[in-house]
Amino acid sequence: MVDRLTPEERSRNMARIRSRDTGPELRVRTVAHALGLRFRLHRRDLPGTPDLAFPKHRVALFVHGCFWHRHEGCAKAYMPKSRIPFWTQKFAANTARDRCKAAELVAAGWKPVVVWECETTDAGRLARILEARVRAPAER
Ligand SMILES: [Zn+2]
Repeated sequence: MVDRLTPEERSRNMARIRSRDTGPELRVRTVAHALGLRFRLHRRDLPGTPDLAFPKHRVALFVHGCFWHRHEGCAKAYMPKSRIPFWTQKFAANTARDRCKAAELVAAGWKPVVVWECETTDAGRLARILEARVRAPAER
């Protein structure tokens, strides 16, 4: 691919990419790659800019932090002890946005999929999760 970026643009891009390269997301990429799944990163033309997009499966995958995106029933999704109204409002806004983006993806013919941060710690388990959520039953 021809590199048309100026050094400034490139370093700005790199900084932005680094800031997005969270541990859980990297683990998902590594396992998806090992499974032979083809994907694109951070497609801005898709609602919510999914962390990974699998064009063949039309799956838009988000690697969600359990705390910020309120993984139901997960120990990481605890409620802080102070500033409860602030957090309640913040969490409500996050989950409302997630639902909205998921609906937009469905409307665009994509299947929104969430992989939770706590599901990424074990590579074997993560592989089974990706098989189940990305490789649609229709293809089997
Ligand atoms: Zn969790």
